[in-house]
Amino acid sequence: MLKGKTALVTGSTSGIGLGIASALAQQGANIVLNGFGDHEAPKAQIAAYGVQVDYHGADMSKPDQIEDMMKHAAARFGQVDILVNNAGIQHVANVEDFPADRWDSIIAINLTSAFHTSRLAVPAMRAANWGRIINIASAHGLVASAGKSAYVAAKHGIVGFTKALALETATTGVTCNAICPGWVLTPLVQKQIDDRAAREGIPVSKAQNELLGEKQPSLQFTTVEQLGGLAVFLSSPAADNVRGVAWQMDGGWTAQ
Ligand code: NAD
Repeated sequence: MLKGKTALVTGSTSGIGLGIASALAQQGANIVLNGFGDHEAPKAQIAAYGVQVDYHGADMSKPDQIEDMMKHAAARFGQVDILVNNAGIQHVANVEDFPADRWDSIIAINLTSAFHTSRLAVPAMRAANWGRIINIASAHGLVASAGKSAYVAAKHGIVGFTKALALETATTGVTCNAICPGWVLTPLVQKQIDDRAAREGIPVSKAQNELLGEKQPSLQFTTVEQLGGLAVFLSSPAADNVRGVAWQMDGGWTAQ
């Protein structure tokens, strides 16, 4: 379905980003990966789907590096047709204890980077009259949790950004939507489970059950494959007129 298209997924060396990149590659899209850590194994995983794959290590908190990544992708593949703004970090502390530099990093990586990638991708999408911008928000884009002020602010911000860009492109073949996952068992969440187990002196399995029980009525993690399936749908012709949504995949978290 996506043969001939190019998808750039930020923060795709791990977790949800890698899951979404894999799902888009399975539909035939060429992929530009981004993120920290090992990128050779993720590249090989994507290449196994028979598509072309490239990597750029831009730090999403650095606008000049984002610009370089977008130029690199355009030079290699002509243009970015599907942009998935996924890179994200977390820090948990009450406002009065929240380190100011962590606040700045979370806003830069989880929110502002999507502005930079989008402003650089939209002109070519408009010219082609086709494009998909998929922002990975969170249940925390719709509701809050204590201790996550920066993350909640960034994720509410990206839901608002999604709506504004969807309106700006509403008469074109370019759509912009957000996905709002609940708990997904990735390194980002494993750290919160491990921290909880250490803090409360309980086994990791108990900390995991507590974490799910507090927020996610299904008591099951959303999987990266399920999120990949939603990204594929949003990239399909059936979603041509899906614009500006913040689509929960959260086991009922925000239905409460
Ligand atoms: P993860 O830690 O597994 O992956 C994060 C990715 O972002 C990695 O590839 C990492 O290298 C990359 N990254 C981090 N900082 C970066 C930077 N400065 N520049 C470039 N890349 C950077 O986390 P994940 O759980 O897969 O999270 C992905 C997205 O999904 C995030 O935006 C997160 O907020 C969101 N999300 C996650 C969950 C969850 O339960 N895991 C729930 C809702 C939303």
